[in-house]
Amino acid sequence: MKLTSILKSDKLSLSFEVFPPKTDTAFESVECAIEQIAALKPPFMSVTYGAGGGTGKYTLEIAKRIKATYGVPMLAHLTCVSSDKKTVHAQIEAIRAAGIQNVMALRGDIPAHLEDADRSNWDYHHAIDLVRELRASGADFCIGGACYPEVHPESKNQKEDLMHLAQKVDAGCDFLTTQMFFDNNLLYNFLYKAREAGITVPVVAGIMPITNASQIERAIKLSGSHMPRRFLSLVDKFGSDPAAMKQAGIAYATDQIIDLFANNVTNVHVYSMNKPEVAAAIMANLSDILGK
Ligand code: FAD
Repeated sequence: MKLTSILKSDKLSLSFEVFPPKTDTAFESVECAIEQIAALKPPFMSVTYGAGGGTGKYTLEIAKRIKATYGVPMLAHLTCVSSDKKTVHAQIEAIRAAGIQNVMALRGDIPAHLEDADRSNWDYHHAIDLVRELRASGADFCIGGACYPEVHPESKNQKEDLMHLAQKVDAGCDFLTTQMFFDNNLLYNFLYKAREAGITVPVVAGIMPITNASQIERAIKLSGSHMPRRFLSLVDKFGSDPAAMKQAGIAYATDQIIDLFANNVTNVHVYSMNKPEVAAAIMANLSDILGK
């Protein structure tokens, strides 16, 4: 199923992101956690690509298995910047052949050792190049792109970031998913400016439940997200007690999601970090709101 039919409906949706294992030996335990999330029957799930050293092989393998076993519509991520055309074309063909209709088209982070490299002969520079290739492949994909309520760290300013985002959407994105954020007002400001920039595709809000104190540093490093005082107080108080921090992090994410739904954001994607108990707890907290 294409995600556009879910994202364009008025029905509130709560979906989950998972990431593939980094090694063969980790496959079974990761798959088991992912299957427990799939058993919650979310409207869709996404599987990241290459993040943290995983491989494309596992992304597709997991997407195929979850779709076949649980019937959950899948969104396969694909990055392009450290790949060549041959590899990317093979991945696109593999996704199509696996019957996965939804692809998140990403640039990927520039590997640290290539930051100062001569990029003139790279096959891909930005996610828009991948969006164009996916469209040109002839497969009838529903294509997603990433967006940044707090501005992508490499952009000079929000105006420039939104201009590039609008070009990416025009090249063929059917929807956008946001980077994580911890202050909903940042999203509301972003949505207003995105609409003003002519971006009218559905925007899925990405929420990361922070359930242990060590996750915070990594989340800030990855996303540059602003941590509101209210959230930091919670970490100060409960950060050294794992069970309490988990409960508080789930409550904070739940509160953020309720506020988003109350303000007409209909699609929320939870960066569930392969933690089925976190996904299940958030879903249970919202059971009546989601009508389940
Ligand atoms: P782009 O859209 O190319 O944007 C990157 C930067 O380039 C921005 O500053 C943009 O303004 C600028 N830009 C865009 N087009 C142009 C242009 N034509 N000229 C000049 N500048 C331009 N990473 C992974 O490795 N695997 C994943 O699975 C993954 N999933 C993600 C999912 C989401 C929802 C998000 C928000 C991020 C994800 N990432 C993932 C991280 C992502 O790869 C990085 O944030 C990366 O740095 C940017 O990717 P992008 O697709 O947003 O790039």
